[in-house]
Amino acid sequence: MRIIDLFTDAFAGKKRINTNLERIVAERTKQLGQSEEKYRNILENINDGYYEVDLSGNFTFFNDSMCVLLGYSREEMIGMNNRQYTDKENAKKLFQTFNEVYRTGEAAKAFDWQITRKDNTKRSIEASISLQKNSTGKPIGFRGITRDATERKLAEETIRRSEERYRTILDEMEDAYFEVDVAGNYTFVNDSCCRHLGYSRDELIGTTFRGSIVKEEFEKIYKVFGNIYITGKPERNIFYQLLRKDGTTGFAEMTAFPLQNQKGEIIGFRGVGRDVTERKRMEDEIKYQGTHDALTGLSNRLMFGQILNHAIQSAKRFTRQFAVLFIDLDRFKTINDTLGHEAGDQLLLEISVRLKQTLRATDFIARLGGDEFIILIEEVDDASHVATVAHKILNSVLKPMTIIEQECRITASIGICMYPNDAQDEQSLMKNADLAMYMAKEEGKNNFQFYSEDIQSKSLEHLSIETNLRFALERNELSLHYQAKVDFRTNAITGVEALLRWQNPHLGFVTPTQFIPVAEETGLIVPIGNWVLRTACNQNVAWQQQGLPPVCIAVNLSVRQLTDDNLIDDISKALQDSGMEPHLLELEITESMMMRNPDRMIAVLAKIKSLGVRLAIDDFGTGYSSLAQIKHFHVDTLKVDRSFIRNIPQDAEDKAITKAIISMGKTLSLTVVAEGVETLDQLNFLKNHSCDEMQGYYFSKPIAPEQFADLLREHVPVPGKAA
Ligand code: C2E
Ligand code: MG
Ligand code: MG
Repeated sequence: MRIIDLFTDAFAGKKRINTNLERIVAERTKQLGQSEEKYRNILENINDGYYEVDLSGNFTFFNDSMCVLLGYSREEMIGMNNRQYTDKENAKKLFQTFNEVYRTGEAAKAFDWQITRKDNTKRSIEASISLQKNSTGKPIGFRGITRDATERKLAEETIRRSEERYRTILDEMEDAYFEVDVAGNYTFVNDSCCRHLGYSRDELIGTTFRGSIVKEEFEKIYKVFGNIYITGKPERNIFYQLLRKDGTTGFAEMTAFPLQNQKGEIIGFRGVGRDVTERKRMEDEIKYQGTHDALTGLSNRLMFGQILNHAIQSAKRFTRQFAVLFIDLDRFKTINDTLGHEAGDQLLLEISVRLKQTLRATDFIARLGGDEFIILIEEVDDASHVATVAHKILNSVLKPMTIIEQECRITASIGICMYPNDAQDEQSLMKNADLAMYMAKEEGKNNFQFYSEDIQSKSLEHLSIETNLRFALERNELSLHYQAKVDFRTNAITGVEALLRWQNPHLGFVTPTQFIPVAEETGLIVPIGNWVLRTACNQNVAWQQQGLPPVCIAVNLSVRQLTDDNLIDDISKALQDSGMEPHLLELEITESMMMRNPDRMIAVLAKIKSLGVRLAIDDFGTGYSSLAQIKHFHVDTLKVDRSFIRNIPQDAEDKAITKAIISMGKTLSLTVVAEGVETLDQLNFLKNHSCDEMQGYYFSKPIAPEQFADLLREHVPVPGKAA
């Protein structure tokens, strides 16, 4: 059946042998011929294939494009069955569709099917199938248009795949992706976006973007979207605070782009963002760590420097003064070495708490590292105000504390530098406060010192001490002075302490607090200490030989000597060579030295004791030992540190400590000696609280041997009377 038959069918059987009719028919046939020509032309010129098949699927009519589509020649295609150019599966599909069209009479459209061309290549085709009926309405076959859909299908597949890929990426990616319309309502969100905000996709879509940011950010975000709308350009790295479904907030960073329709009109915004809460927390922490001390949480040196500079600027502007206090704990290293770092850390923490409690909220405190703290006190009226603060700090540090179940006590030394009098810039302010602190240490610790020009020059001298000290012994620059100890009950001189003196031609008189630490550092203390021991013993024997009453002579030992293997030999030799009775020798060791290595110390001290020599604990109260520990050292004497006596009777705290030390010493049957007694008030206080002996300027300063001989000779003890 040809296409023309479609049109001629209507006329079939209706021809009349009638000239008029014949004319009409002839006319019509001509027209139809022209029409057929026209349709054939159209059919041959279209790219789509046109086909007609009979009810068995054999081609009855087709155009050239159909031949091109299947790759067969016109001759080969005539009568060819659809099974020849479809595989089994497709043939079945096709058969079913033909059947359906036959049954219903309804055309099937866009039927996708695969054909195998003559050259065996496969193509996807799109076809329409409609039922072809003859003039009596009887189905005689099918016809339709076919089109090669391979390219379109491929393109579609590519798009599908890329869409799938893009969706997988969107859903798998850590970053949140969202699209909002111009009103800010979510139109699309990926999984990550839902996860970050804690909402499901359904909950988010259609709701406003505002629901997922904190109120304070509304304006900022609207400005961002507004800018994008105006410029059409993306806005990058927008940092904002997000609000999650559970009400928690976090930090996010996003880059937002305009969302355009095909015409290029902005119909919304899309953004890629990430939850940076953790990063922000880490950044904050790093920033905090950079300016704070990890252990105490106090500000660090860097932060202090910034605050100090700020204080300088404002003090300059308003012509005000302020103070910088440099605080160093006394003998902190010993605690660290003996009780361990954990104990040291605990102690530092406790001290930092106390400092904070002691100071006003406006005062600024920082830890410089180790046991060094620094304080800035602004708006000070005069030095006495600062002195009061320093005093308060010393008192708060001194209070006993329990560290690793041990009661201990620590003291501090404070150096004070005033702006603008002592220094005007950050570095000098800190350096001078530091120098003043060293001065406080030299003054016997547990006190504060203001910076002065004098301190500056003293610190320079410190440098040359070491070089000169090396020759001090051989050049006979060392000597001993003797300070009496008096018994409170009998008022008699019962003992004497030998104290080292150094007179150097370049440096002049150098105090023991200046050169002994240097001697200890360099190890020179061992030969020097041995010289002291021998000289003191010889001197004591010499006094006796002059007919003076025998006194017990105390010699200070340094920690370096205690770890020296020759110590016991040296002591016994000094006793032997001088001929002094061992019980007339008392060796003083500081409390902190004993605690450095208690087990070893107990052994050394036991050996010393076996020589018949007495033992004293010097500077007691500033370390951290308890009397319970002291018991193990078999000492005979306890010397209360000068820093407690100094502020008696005005300081209630010092009085309480001194009282406690005396009574505890008594419980252990030790002789308690108060050091640094300078006033009658102090003397009376100590006497009233049953202190055994005293030593101090009130009775006698350390003096040369001849002077001491005179003192010993001339002093007439009057029992019960104040020295
Ligand atoms: P220390 O053993 O505690 O000696 C007491 C210190 O206090 C002495 O200082 C003494 O002059 C001073 N002093 C005594 N009474 C008073 C007073 O009423 N007021 C004041 N302000 N001070 C008083 P010095 O002689 O300067 O000795 C300081 C420290 O140097 C000694 O303290 C001792 O630890 C050490 N030292 C002195 N000589 C020797 C020595 O031969 N060997 C060793 N290893 N250390 C020594
Ligand atoms: Mg001493
Ligand atoms: Mg002392």
